Amino acid sequence: MTDWREQEVMNETSARDINEWIDGSNESAGSEAGSPFVCECSDGACKATIALTHLEYEEVRAHGTQFAIALNHESPDLDMMISERIGFAIVQKLPGMPARVATAADPRRVR
Ligand SMILES: [Zn+2]
Repeated sequence: MTDWREQEVMNETSARDINEWIDGSNESAGSEAGSPFVCECSDGACKATIALTHLEYEEVRAHGTQFAIALNHESPDLDMMISERIGFAIVQKLPGMPARVATAADPRRVR
């Protein structure tokens, strides 16, 4: 039942899980310096890292359908560009399956 597009969204949600762990274990929360997070793009083999401050990370994570990725890593089938920043971009999952899978796996969703 898992088609390749769903698999790609799941690549992104697992990157998000890693970043949640990074953010949670980061004692420098609140500092102005960016911390390295993993790129949350749909490429399961992507090894890119992006630097976000804790505040920037929280801004992305406030929405269950938004992901932080390296520049030019968006997948037009799944992502809508929200904002291009210095060194990373914020994308939003397209409505339908991508948004549904992203929301269902949102680690911050109130269950
Ligand atoms: Zn990437």
